[in-house]
Amino acid sequence: PQGFKRGLLVRAHALAQEQGWEVTDDASLVERMGEPVLVVPGEEANVKITTPEDLARLNQARPAAPCVGLGYDAHRYGPGRPLVLGGIPIPNGPRVQAHSDGDVLLHALTDALLGCAGAGDIGLLFPDTDPAFEAMSSSIFVKEALARAQEAGLKIVHADLTVVAQTPKIAPWREQIAENVAGLLGLERGQVNVKATTEEGLGFTGEKKGLKAYALVTAVRERPAGDRA
Ligand code: MG
Repeated sequence: PQGFKRGLLVRAHALAQEQGWEVTDDASLVERMGEPVLVVPGEEANVKITTPEDLARLNQARPAAPCVGLGYDAHRYGPGRPLVLGGIPIPNGPRVQAHSDGDVLLHALTDALLGCAGAGDIGLLFPDTDPAFEAMSSSIFVKEALARAQEAGLKIVHADLTVVAQTPKIAPWREQIAENVAGLLGLERGQVNVKATTEEGLGFTGEKKGLKAYALVTAVRERPAGDRA
């Protein structure tokens, strides 16, 4: 590869055009202008990119840069829908007020996926003013957000989920939730973690007025956006 200070190269090209020089590359152009050109030891990783194929080869060889998406959601307890978390019905749990099925964990997960994809948020894709999404299973939201992430050239490699609730106890359902989420995302069970915590009686979760969830999704870029394999 050849490297130049931009100003020098721009001047050289302008001069070549003006004078009608015929040269084969930038180095000979700059030399012709009377500026010294040096050869320095290279390294194999610093490959010269000339053709689209060179670029594709480079992208393949380069370790994929991970991206992380964060999702957060909160729902209020009250007359409404039976509690569902991560797609798993929680028997005898408090009821939640919600437009869709009210799955706070899958809503957070959807936003985390959209965060990776650079595709806005769940409210943008599935407005809760739209009757089409009334009582809809939140798995649909996850699937759509996953498709957006894949269209953006991303491969999801990990999901870390946290439910924050004073009640109910999440532990008995943790395994089922993790397995279900892994299935939704096409991941191995080991690539999904489910955590649960209380806020020690503080705030709205402490007062048992509702619950909240955080999701962190890690993805790697497999190919440029829009170039679906
Ligand atoms: Mg929600």
